[in-house]
Amino acid sequence: MNCVKCGAENPNAAVFCGVCGAKLESPEEKREKIRRLEQELRELEEKKEKREEEAAALREQIGCAEERVRGLREEKSRLIGLLLSEGGEV
Ligand SMILES: [Zn+2]
Repeated sequence: MNCVKCGAENPNAAVFCGVCGAKLESPEEKREKIRRLEQELRELEEKKEKREEEAAALREQIGCAEERVRGLREEKSRLIGLLLSEGGEV
């Protein structure tokens, strides 16, 4: 079994590296770590997908709001135009 820290070869039963003293991970510990990382990855990907859906919904809301602003500006211009044509003051 090779030390992950210094790369030295150690007996399979060793718990600590004979060269640098680092804790050696058994194959079972490595497999467990891989399982944890895969689980974490899955959760992050789910989170990312959710955020992307939220972002898409927000973009749609922004689009609607922009359309409403455009409509209100046009309505305002139209009313100002009407007032002016009637000789009124704005
Ligand atoms: Zn080592």
